[in-house]
Amino acid sequence: MTYTVEAAFPTPDGRFERRPVALNDPGPEDVLVRLVASGVCHTDLVTAADPVVPGQILGHEGAGVVEAVGEAVSGVEPGDHVVLSYAWCGMCPACENGRMAYCADFLQLNYLGARLLGQGSFATFTVTTERNVIRVPDDLALEVLAPLGCGVQTGAGAVLNVLRPEPGSSLAVFALGAVGLSAVMAARIAGCERIVAVDPNPARRALALELGATEAVDPSDAPFNAMDHAVECVGYPDVVRAAVKSLAAPGQCVTVGFQGRKNPVELDQRHLMNGRGIRGSIEGDAIPQRFIPELIEHHRAGRLPLDRLVTTFAFADINAAVDAARSGQAVKPVLIF
Ligand SMILES: [Zn+2]
Ligand SMILES: [Zn+2]
Repeated sequence: MTYTVEAAFPTPDGRFERRPVALNDPGPEDVLVRLVASGVCHTDLVTAADPVVPGQILGHEGAGVVEAVGEAVSGVEPGDHVVLSYAWCGMCPACENGRMAYCADFLQLNYLGARLLGQGSFATFTVTTERNVIRVPDDLALEVLAPLGCGVQTGAGAVLNVLRPEPGSSLAVFALGAVGLSAVMAARIAGCERIVAVDPNPARRALALELGATEAVDPSDAPFNAMDHAVECVGYPDVVRAAVKSLAAPGQCVTVGFQGRKNPVELDQRHLMNGRGIRGSIEGDAIPQRFIPELIEHHRAGRLPLDRLVTTFAFADINAAVDAARSGQAVKPVLIF
């Protein structure tokens, strides 16, 4: 059997056009998901403007209901509510050590296939694998849970999995999109005492203060320093430098902002002396099957009010959602199918 699916494809001008595509029945290890919602992530916009694989279906913050599964799939069944995340092979040394975000096949599975991040969620249905799906409770709205699969997991994971700040420590977050604001909420969950949120957009700074930041700073304000931890969420060289310079000695910076292909950053090696460090992270080092359920518990308990980040758009209005993301008007546009 073949399903006809409506999918949105990037056009040369960086916008999206919806077209029908044929989808085959799930293979033995496949999971067919009917999308209910999909977040629009910055990586989708970067990739739409500079495609890695022409004709690739973008979208990688899908949430929906399992429609059918292949015969080898045992972890989910039709009717289950699921959030979609990234793909990993399960067999390489990184996967065997529980470092799935650093899977040897990460690039191949998540960027170079027909579907971005192994899911392609800008479509009414998608075929994915059991490793990409995380079962979620069916009493929670899927449009609120969708961004867990990338943006929220990345920001919260940078704090809770990578930096693991000790209670009472200080943490600065540079760039307040969905990733940065998730890092702010996670810093509060971790018990950080001083949480500094940095962004040129005053509305974002105000939202950060409501979500747990103790100070909000415009990048043109006087520089601050002596932070135990920093999370850098945009990847612009001057922001990466500012994040490293904000650190105490010793202090650690995690950079998760993605600017497409090459992105050289010049650092003053002097700022890395006294034990300061910087490292990158993919998807907040998270194992989605373990981390997303933890984040859902924080959400239920009111510690991770994801609904404050989400603005919904009908799938037909995908270009309005993209515009709202590019202009910064919406923190996390979520398409509804
Ligand atoms: Zn993403
Ligand atoms: Zn692997």
